[in-house]
Amino acid sequence: MKLEALQSMKQSDTMKTIDSCSVGQIKGFYETSFLDWFGKISSVFFLSGCNLRCPYCHNHGLVLKPHSFPTIPQQMIESRLQEFVGWIDGIVISGGEPCLYSQLPDLIKFFRKLSFLVKLDTNGTKPDMLASLLDDGLIDYVAMDVKAPLDDIRYSRCVGIPVSVSHIKRSLAILAQSEIGYELRMTVCPTLIKEKDIKDLAIQLEGVQKFVLQAFNPKNTLDPDLRSVSPYDNDQMMEFKKILEEYVGECRVMA
Ligand code: SF4
Repeated sequence: MKLEALQSMKQSDTMKTIDSCSVGQIKGFYETSFLDWFGKISSVFFLSGCNLRCPYCHNHGLVLKPHSFPTIPQQMIESRLQEFVGWIDGIVISGGEPCLYSQLPDLIKFFRKLSFLVKLDTNGTKPDMLASLLDDGLIDYVAMDVKAPLDDIRYSRCVGIPVSVSHIKRSLAILAQSEIGYELRMTVCPTLIKEKDIKDLAIQLEGVQKFVLQAFNPKNTLDPDLRSVSPYDNDQMMEFKKILEEYVGECRVMA
């Protein structure tokens, strides 16, 4: 079943779902994706709610109005996923910010019971949850957002609310010490991130193995003012990549 179909479920189904769902607020489901876990075929689940307000966010429906999306019943997910055993490699848990949910470990155990690998997408603001998932061997791969150079002023500007980068730094340290694979990724919005920011961040992240530069997409951004901003062109993105590659192991550019 496609995301659109799931989202058009009747209100009565939605209410039943909320009562019976023990694994958190799953609001969206892509059955198969070749893009969300590089080199793997995955199903992608979206959990609602986020503690940040990035002006370029495209998932702001999930962030600002989570109750306008029906929650997908665990039973439906289970029966659908059973058909995917042997076809997809793993599950991507995305958001919103999945680490806000205390039931996240239960959700992951549910996926693992079906024999899937699990990738977590996170904004890095919940290092305790991240550490606990890693300690318990529940996740196989992490993609963590890095929104800006690691200082409170620039970071706060890029996430739309005042934040301290101490939690982000802790998450980075936890990932650096872990034995699983991980990548850092950054959306490069021209009004928020300039070449100097890329250089400063590259120096701060020296030694990181994988970094993904994500091109800014002006379509349907949380901040309407960004909808008329043109993304950096390919030459500029390649210039940023070159700067990062002086400090990190591998840098990929994604359109
Ligand atoms: S971290 Fe930012 S981009 Fe990601 S869901 Fe939250 S507000 Fe949107």
